[in-house]
Amino acid sequence: MTTLDFTGKTKLTLRPVEVASNREISPGIFVLTFRRDFSFIPGQVLAVAMKPDRQYRFYSIASGMQEQEIRLLFDLKPGGELTPQLAALQPGDSFYVSAPAGNFYGTAKPAVWLAAGTGIAPFISMWRSGLRRDKLLVHSGRFLHSFYFEEDFFPLGKNYIRCCTREQGDGVYHGRINQWIIEQKKLPDNRRYYLCGSAEMVVDTRDALIEKGVSYENIIAEIYF
Ligand SMILES: Cc1cc2nc3c(=O)[nH]c(=O)nc-3n(C[C@H](O)[C@H](O)[C@H](O)COP(=O)(O)OP(=O)(O)OC[C@H]3O[C@@H](n4cnc5c(N)ncnc54)[C@H](O)[C@@H]3O)c2cc1C
Repeated sequence: MTTLDFTGKTKLTLRPVEVASNREISPGIFVLTFRRDFSFIPGQVLAVAMKPDRQYRFYSIASGMQEQEIRLLFDLKPGGELTPQLAALQPGDSFYVSAPAGNFYGTAKPAVWLAAGTGIAPFISMWRSGLRRDKLLVHSGRFLHSFYFEEDFFPLGKNYIRCCTREQGDGVYHGRINQWIIEQKKLPDNRRYYLCGSAEMVVDTRDALIEKGVSYENIIAEIYF
């Protein structure tokens, strides 16, 4: 067990877990699972490392609170420190995780969820944990195969919007998430907007929301940096 500094204030401890499965679900996109032996709040993250003394990175938990396995959804960054090693893990191998951390919590209140790429992960957790009432989900991806876990969200019907930047497809908006926001006549008001993705996506989306009259206090972001 090793203790790591998290934001310089809280101490995180990494412990070994055993890989249950590791699948490439879309080109360069992996779902890594291990047995769940702790509870968490949907939206929380884990620090993940190959060895306790190696560089760790954060990953959102993409499982429902009641599921038996913890699921991590990540994209392989060629030349990256951790993800090439995570992608090579086989069932039975071990890697290291912290206790759940972070405060990007889902709630039962009406909300708009805005995700880019693997930024869908915390919303998979919220959705699978039963936080389903009165939600609008907008997910952006480069390709038509970038809408990970889309079958989960089909029951949302017209409240599940897929924005694809590089391909066109039936029922899929062609363009970026901020363009989609700008084109809306009216956005739902009096509710929180949860944003998850790269720093660029979060900034562009925030600006578009503010331009459409969403108040800054109602914008909550998880930045994947
Ligand atoms: C709160 C939080 C939650 C997150 N949740 C998720 C999640 O659920 N799923 C997910 O996929 N990601 C998530 N991330 C991002 C994740 O933590 C990692 O940053 C990401 O997986 C990259 O890991 P890596 O070590 O493989 O790549 P890194 O080593 O960080 O490298 C990233 C890229 O930069 C390039 N690079 C590195 N160093 C240099 C350099 N000096 N010059 C030029 N290029 C360089 C690498 O080649 C690579 O392509 C989250 C981040 C945060 C903060």
